[in-house]
Amino acid sequence: MPGEKPAHMSANIIDGKAIAAAIKEELKAQVAGLPVAPGLATVLVGDDPASHTYIRSKHRLCAELGMRSLHHQLAADATQEQVESVVKSLAENPEAHGILIQLPLPAHLDEERVLALVPLEKDVDGFHPINVGRLAMKGRRPEFVPCTPAGCMRLLERSGVELKGARAVVVGRSNIVGLPMALLLNHADATVTIVHSRTKNVDSILKEADVVVAAIGKANFIRGEQLKPGSCVIDVGINRTSEGLVGDVEFASAQAVAGRITPVPGGVGPMTLIMLMENTLKAAQKSFQVRELKVGGPG
Ligand code: NDP
Repeated sequence: MPGEKPAHMSANIIDGKAIAAAIKEELKAQVAGLPVAPGLATVLVGDDPASHTYIRSKHRLCAELGMRSLHHQLAADATQEQVESVVKSLAENPEAHGILIQLPLPAHLDEERVLALVPLEKDVDGFHPINVGRLAMKGRRPEFVPCTPAGCMRLLERSGVELKGARAVVVGRSNIVGLPMALLLNHADATVTIVHSRTKNVDSILKEADVVVAAIGKANFIRGEQLKPGSCVIDVGINRTSEGLVGDVEFASAQAVAGRITPVPGGVGPMTLIMLMENTLKAAQKSFQVRELKVGGPG
């Protein structure tokens, strides 16, 4: 048709919404087969509207999957002791199989100390220092992998992208996305480069990348002409602009060069949420196994 881009000229879109919907059905079936509904506890300090929206969508998805959710809301000026006391009570609560502390916490709180109180087996966000440490070590397996990078990996797997020996570039090195993403790609035997705000020669690094993961937080920061033709682009960025929600990658120009690309919205976003649900289900399954062992064990 006139004006239409020939099929070979446009990238295959990796449809995160469809992949997340398929995983949702798989999880629903697994939840239905459990003796007790898995429970996710969320903790929110302060009343940031975006955080409220995220929490609401987590609880909605729990309900859709037949899972339970518990919520603890604390005032923006809650003390370290108050926050720690809530997390400690959830750590003891058998109905909370997974605990999620909505980040960032207000600046006056010690985030590291709060996160370290989440027991490893309930750390469905994967941010406990031991989980992160295991992720960084060869031959070790974390109990849980942080949800956004886990979602990116699942998109790559389900799209059949070969990672072994691939050149992968992660743009961004945050604790939540960039760093764990680079560690996961390394575990998958990709050769990984991390690009950050001080990196020089970014163009030449990107040009060699078979896989690019963009987690920067700057609208349309990476453009098509910087990419290697045929590469796979995973865009984690969520940027609100006057033109609506856009990623860290300029979609139109990147789509013309890349072999595969995730859209924003509808790429990584839906995967992050469903990975949280998967982690919570896994936490519940493990707790049932432990209970069975205790009941069936000696003494
Ligand atoms: P952070 O702000 O914590 O980290 C941004 C990273 O980008 C930093 O490592 C920073 O480098 C790097 N960076 C900044 N400017 C440049 C530059 N000019 N060149 C190269 N690197 C640069 O953000 P997050 O990792 O938390 O989030 C990144 C994006 O992903 C955001 O848009 C966020 O909204 C989105 N997001 C999406 C999720 C989803 O579910 N889809 C979940 C989580 C986040 P340096 O370390 O040197 O400062």
